[in-house]
Amino acid sequence: MRALICSTPGKLEYKEVPEPQPELGRSILKIRKVGICGTDLHAFQGTQPFFHYPRILGHELSGDLVGGTGEAYTIMPYYSCGHCVACLHGKPNCCSSIQVCGVHIDGGMVEYLSVPDSALIPGGRLSHEALALVEPLAIGAHGVRRAGVQPGEYVLVMGAGPIGLGTMAFASIAGAKVITLDVNQHRLDFCRERLGVMHTIMSISEVATADDLRHITAGQMPTVVIDCTGNLGAIQHGLSYLAHGGRYVLIGLQKAAFSFSHPEFHKRETTLMSSRNATKEDFEHVMHSMRSGLVDPLTFITHRVSFDEVGKEFKGWLDPAKGVIKAMVEL
Ligand SMILES: [Zn+2]
Ligand SMILES: [Zn+2]
Repeated sequence: MRALICSTPGKLEYKEVPEPQPELGRSILKIRKVGICGTDLHAFQGTQPFFHYPRILGHELSGDLVGGTGEAYTIMPYYSCGHCVACLHGKPNCCSSIQVCGVHIDGGMVEYLSVPDSALIPGGRLSHEALALVEPLAIGAHGVRRAGVQPGEYVLVMGAGPIGLGTMAFASIAGAKVITLDVNQHRLDFCRERLGVMHTIMSISEVATADDLRHITAGQMPTVVIDCTGNLGAIQHGLSYLAHGGRYVLIGLQKAAFSFSHPEFHKRETTLMSSRNATKEDFEHVMHSMRSGLVDPLTFITHRVSFDEVGKEFKGWLDPAKGVIKAMVEL
């Protein structure tokens, strides 16, 4: 069968690889759709810290079970050990020896993929495209759940990329008044027009942003700030946008150490949290929200390509001028 392999940073190659064989406790999925995300693009660029090459990318997946009844499936690509402290406390999303399919181990840019039975989630009536979008949306849904977002509170989402958009959608579903901040006007327009986000702020300076936030919230400032940029400056400035008593959640990942003014952190009695991956509960929440029409997954797809084309199209998706929100590969 064919696989698309990232052999070294900057290089994608189609190769023939052996088909997976049946194994106890595992199933074989005929891959139908693969969503492309920032992690894949960073892996291709060589800027992802924990990547080893060669690697088959692809962790936002949907497909049909070989020997199944024809129902479509998605997978939870975070394979956990089941016995570490995090796993035993119901947090397999931050398992101490987690293996993410398409990151730590080979992923779904293949015709057939062997996956642990425990990772399979039946799709109900959802389409293959919707099912390939469950994972990226679940990342945002998890961050919103971590924050414990309550109806009526102001939630600031920093970064209007794919993860930020999902976070906004699930903060809205939780009843929040969503504010978003980005440096890209095209993305802010997308939030207003396609997601119905009322308050968008073009990030020019920290002072101007704080003024805009004070204006929108009638001086109160957001009680939740969620970073979806992974940008060091954004992470460090985000604290100054938070109301006293608020929660600050970091979904975006940054390689460097970050720092805050301790008095600023202290005087707010800030609750600081990271948010990693997602759990089955988040996947189910996303799928339920899709089925009940609270979130339209197809809104997020801006580019569609066949498996044959992805090798040559991939590089172009790194260019911000292409306006890629979510590219979807079809097998
Ligand atoms: Zn992803
Ligand atoms: Zn574990």
